[in-house]
Amino acid sequence: MPDFTAFRHPVLAVPCPVCRAPVGIWCGNSIGLPSAELHAARSIEAERAFIDQHGPDAAIIRVATGWQIDRRGLIRD
Ligand SMILES: [Zn+2]
Repeated sequence: MPDFTAFRHPVLAVPCPVCRAPVGIWCGNSIGLPSAELHAARSIEAERAFIDQHGPDAAIIRVATGWQIDRRGLIRD
């Protein structure tokens, strides 16, 4: 099960379907250098997995120590 709080960006919890970067590794371009942005398809996949795991009302928030799941974040805000 992906851990969305384990990495410097929540999207890194899933592998990238575009550049094949594994879990925890930033997306790369065609010559293997890190991309400025994570691939959009990876963000969509991460969002889908996040909702599967935490439900449609959850959000992930940046806190001083990293990332934290807020189960009702989308309802309250
Ligand atoms: Zn990628």
